[in-house]
Amino acid sequence: MKLLVTGGAGYVGSVTAALLLERGHEVTVLDDLSTGHADAVPVGATLVEGDVATTAPAVLMGADFDGVLHFAARSLVGESVVEPEKYWYGNVVTSLQLLEAIRVTGTPRLVFSSTAATYGEPEVIPITEDAPTRPTNPYGASKLAIDHAITSYAAAHGLAAVSLRYFNVAGAHGAQGERHTTETHLIPLVLQVAQGRREHVTVFGDDWPTADGTCVRDYVHVLDLAEAHLLALEHASSGAHQVYNLGSGSGFSVLEVVEACRRVTGHPVPARTAARRAGDPAVLVASSDRAVAELGWKPERTAIDQIVADAWTFTQQVAARA
Ligand code: UDP
Repeated sequence: MKLLVTGGAGYVGSVTAALLLERGHEVTVLDDLSTGHADAVPVGATLVEGDVATTAPAVLMGADFDGVLHFAARSLVGESVVEPEKYWYGNVVTSLQLLEAIRVTGTPRLVFSSTAATYGEPEVIPITEDAPTRPTNPYGASKLAIDHAITSYAAAHGLAAVSLRYFNVAGAHGAQGERHTTETHLIPLVLQVAQGRREHVTVFGDDWPTADGTCVRDYVHVLDLAEAHLLALEHASSGAHQVYNLGSGSGFSVLEVVEACRRVTGHPVPARTAARRAGDPAVLVASSDRAVAELGWKPERTAIDQIVADAWTFTQQVAARA
């Protein structure tokens, strides 16, 4: 297929673009490089540097794309609380403009990078796609708003659409991995401690109602996630908007992740407990049963040590290049 990957210079977008190329697809990456990196765009993809809102219509026009994979977004929960405009404009308005370009050009397929943050604080674990969607921050709300728009475009205009709601993405795939200028995620931060770039990792609360008192999250390997995008493209059906949760189905606590990082890296990784982080639910674990049943998705890299080991290999490669 001939595919447009928005945000293909970012973490999940670049891994998915690499996998699409490995499977013989033709890939154009559209990225404004505001948070992505030009050297993360896999060899073989065409990079168009520009923002989605203004550039996507021109890229799609007359070019006969078979589909769009839409990753480009702002994705920092804390920032979304302080500067919601970046999320309502940068995520929602931009995606509406992309949807319009898709409609006008008759592009048949869309796979959208959605998030577990659309659910908010869960009542039942594991979280299924039928759980109530009550996001607790503008980031999750902006992604949910886009999901609603996609549903109506699919129904009215025959678009074949799939939203994939990611839980905690981690790991790496060869030259593609997680490389944020502002790093807030647990595994890359812990690996920075192992590299000696930070003195310690801060554990946000040890008094949560969990076995060891720290928050539990469902870490899904980025390559398993990328595989789900390829399956979503194959299974997308005209006029339907399908929604799938993607996690590994098992949770690991913050302390278990820190322990895994110690085992994998062989570094001590000092940890200090601090106050809870605002907006954190105690436990977020996905039910991916629907993706398994309907897409035939099989997450294969579910061991936390493997996820951390792949992230560690990538982190060391980046350090060696710098
Ligand atoms: N976390 C932590 N210290 C950090 C960063 C994260 O204890 O420096 C915790 C955070 O409170 C959450 C888990 O690690 O329980 C995963 O957080 P992350 O930001 O990686 O992903 P999120 O679950 O927010 O999407």
